[in-house]
Amino acid sequence: MKPYRMTDMYQRTHDYLRLSVTDKCSLRCTYCMPEDGLAFFPDHCLLSTQEIIAMVDNFCQLGVDKVRLTGGEPLMRKDILEIVEGIHQLSAVKDLSMTTNGLALKRLAQPLRDAGLHRLNISLDTFDQKRYRMVTRGGNLKQVLAGIEAAIAANFDEIKLNVVVIQGQNDQELRDFLSYTFEHDVTVRFIEYMPIGQANQKKWQDAYKGVERVFDICHQEEWTYRAIEMKGNGPAKNFQMDGAKGRFGLIHPISCQFCAACNRLRVTADGYLKACLFWEDEINLRPYLTDFQLFENKVKEALARKPENHEMALDIEESKLSEKPTWRHMSQIGG
Ligand code: SAM
Ligand code: SF4
Repeated sequence: MKPYRMTDMYQRTHDYLRLSVTDKCSLRCTYCMPEDGLAFFPDHCLLSTQEIIAMVDNFCQLGVDKVRLTGGEPLMRKDILEIVEGIHQLSAVKDLSMTTNGLALKRLAQPLRDAGLHRLNISLDTFDQKRYRMVTRGGNLKQVLAGIEAAIAANFDEIKLNVVVIQGQNDQELRDFLSYTFEHDVTVRFIEYMPIGQANQKKWQDAYKGVERVFDICHQEEWTYRAIEMKGNGPAKNFQMDGAKGRFGLIHPISCQFCAACNRLRVTADGYLKACLFWEDEINLRPYLTDFQLFENKVKEALARKPENHEMALDIEESKLSEKPTWRHMSQIGG
């Protein structure tokens, strides 16, 4: 039984922490960072190894038992194995996962597994080298594919491929991603493009594509599929095609808002708690890491202000939003 339930005004229990360990990244994906890149936080602004572990420990005392490390690119931190090991040693953490662009996985997949990481999400939006270089502004597809192989060999509890669906960029490859699940025991997750961080509204409106489109492809190909339950998969709806080793899932924050079931809290690499991905509101937790009472008060303050929903869908209709969207780009929050 959980020792503590962190609930907000809408009786949502928060037991899932997404912690960014750096805002630095080896890529500049078109949907995540501006073309000219971003000025990264100086090192002293980032939480240290010990601060990250203390942060997670405090949240565990407030009922968190599921932790995801993200970034920027989490594998750019030299102390990432120490961080994973330290969090793994906290007995309250039942599920420890990471989202990564996969570029460094060939070298790090097995050490991460050995350090106690349970699950991995790897971002991959295309199987085409030229397109990959364009979407990521310079990335090498072969390196990620080698990383995925290394991750499969390291025997993680679960591997997911995150595919952000962008009109005119990779929507013509959805069939290939579905087909990939026939031979690979991974879950391909189709994610809707979100307008985070001063995203150019026009650019977003033109590029947004609902992920339900994958069902049309299944019907065209006469691939039969069924809904499946996957433990701890939050807002994703999951499916498996008959005869496939792997699965596919849909994350549709825009076309099918899932705020009513939100159990997430996000902490940025510089220690700010964001109760909602989309809105500006955030509280600096770094000064309170060693005083649990104050820490708890601050978290409760953030939860009391957590909005009922994100209103991202209004953006597509160019309707007025009721609160101020965050200034942070996705790479500065962690997704
Ligand atoms: N660098 C790591 C990676 O790419 O996996 C972790 C950080 S990245 C911000 C986390 C996830 O957010 C990735 O799967 C990425 O594809 C997704 N993402 C970034 N910008 C997005 C956007 N505007 N809409 C939807 N997903 C986005
Ligand atoms: Fe970097 Fe991940 Fe954002 Fe791509 S999606 S720019 S890899 S943080």
